[in-house]
Amino acid sequence: MSEFPGATGLVLNEPLLWEKGKVGRRGMSLPRRDVEAAPVDEELIGEVPDLPDLSEVDVVRHYTRLSQWNFGVDSGMYPLGSCTMKYNPKINERLAALTGFAGAHPLLPDRLSQGALRLMAELERFLAEITGMDAVSLQPAAGAQGELTGMLIIFAFHQSKGSPRSKIIVPDTAHGTNPASAALCGFQPVKVASNEQGILSAEAVAALMDEETAGIMVTNPNTLGLFEENIREIAEIVHAKGGKVYCDGANMNAVMGIAHMGKMGVDVLHLNLHKTFSTPHGGGGPGSGPICVTRELEQFLPVPRVVREDGTWELSEEFPQSIGKVHAFYGNFGVMIKAYCYILSMGRDLKRASQLAVLNANYVKARLKDVLHLPYDRPCMHECVFSDKLQRQLKISTIEMAKRLMDYGFHPPTVYFPLVVHGAIMIEPTETESKETLDQFIEAFKAVVKEAAENPDLVRNAPSRCKVRRLDETAAARFPCLAG
Ligand SMILES: *Cc1c(COP(=O)(O)O)cnc(C)c1O
Repeated sequence: MSEFPGATGLVLNEPLLWEKGKVGRRGMSLPRRDVEAAPVDEELIGEVPDLPDLSEVDVVRHYTRLSQWNFGVDSGMYPLGSCTMKYNPKINERLAALTGFAGAHPLLPDRLSQGALRLMAELERFLAEITGMDAVSLQPAAGAQGELTGMLIIFAFHQSKGSPRSKIIVPDTAHGTNPASAALCGFQPVKVASNEQGILSAEAVAALMDEETAGIMVTNPNTLGLFEENIREIAEIVHAKGGKVYCDGANMNAVMGIAHMGKMGVDVLHLNLHKTFSTPHGGGGPGSGPICVTRELEQFLPVPRVVREDGTWELSEEFPQSIGKVHAFYGNFGVMIKAYCYILSMGRDLKRASQLAVLNANYVKARLKDVLHLPYDRPCMHECVFSDKLQRQLKISTIEMAKRLMDYGFHPPTVYFPLVVHGAIMIEPTETESKETLDQFIEAFKAVVKEAAENPDLVRNAPSRCKVRRLDETAAARFPCLAG
């Protein structure tokens, strides 16, 4: 087992600070006073908070130990599908922390924020070029908010034509946020089933598309990790009935510099800077979900927009058709800086990053398909989706294998998603994992599958080497302990 990164030695226990404190212990020392002691007015101080008395080393060890119970991309491989948990170069953090950026205030006048505004304008241009779209707003704070913004733009478009529409077609392989964003905007999501190849067929879309339907929301590559090959034909069908094509571009990591979304017939697209463009994520933010549109829809983008007047960058609200503001100021600037630096430092290699992400996923798929059921056996993009079909007869399911992987030192893949695959196991290795790490992960998964046959209780009771055993997955939400 020693070749696997999973181990438990020196992962130390840690009580609450309140249990650790001892009256009179201190984390600092003050110089001897050289004035007379004066009585303290208790009333002025009010009630003294119940804080534990701790030494400096108590506090340092406490937080260091807690930090070591955390698992992140900086500690190991994190193959969570549909999440693009790739390594984010530290240089981008350093640059975002430069005082000129970190100290910039959003209320400073435009003329004192020329560098920041120029960076935003250039980032918009880079993203337009990478996606093949015409205009970009960096305002939305996350992918899901980008989707809502896109839906509002499509809504505004139909309204401007004097014929609001009520429905949106959403495939059964869509990310869960897609139907939610459409519904939040007041559209009724209409489900379209993907075909036996795991992608949309033009016929299925044609059967649903009518003049009550505002458009379609397609994730491409989709959540099965497959490229929607019929996208152009589908876009023609939707456009012929006056609809618009929304593309969820959260999976852009597979196609940077390769797929031209505009040429595919996409009218609106969102990106996840915190997935594809170098911002660590998973801890709840901040994120950024820029929205990219065709020239025709540009007038509806959120305001303010960065414009250039007589050589000076400005934030302009003068877009009367705009859907308005979707975020305070101009969105999460720190995330934009990291994306800007990442894109500049990668240059043409962005394409290579996508190629390697696809290669890595196909490598994992090819090496695990002998031991795991592969529902769609075709070349994949940045992720591959297996199921627990072969293990089910042993009464071992996806969740148990996922938990056992933790004993081997790997964060589990995404499980039970997408919903079209029963017992789905969705693996997205990303381009930043080396072949050695991929091999280690593959061997760990194979070892788990072997255990499922030979020693199923070991898998059923996993994890056994982690800091904590199997947690009740709903208790924390149902009975939250907020007091500590
Ligand atoms: C992650 C993801 C989203 C949602 O993005 P958030 O930033 O988490 O809101 C939407 N669609 C797809 C395909 C995704 O992978």
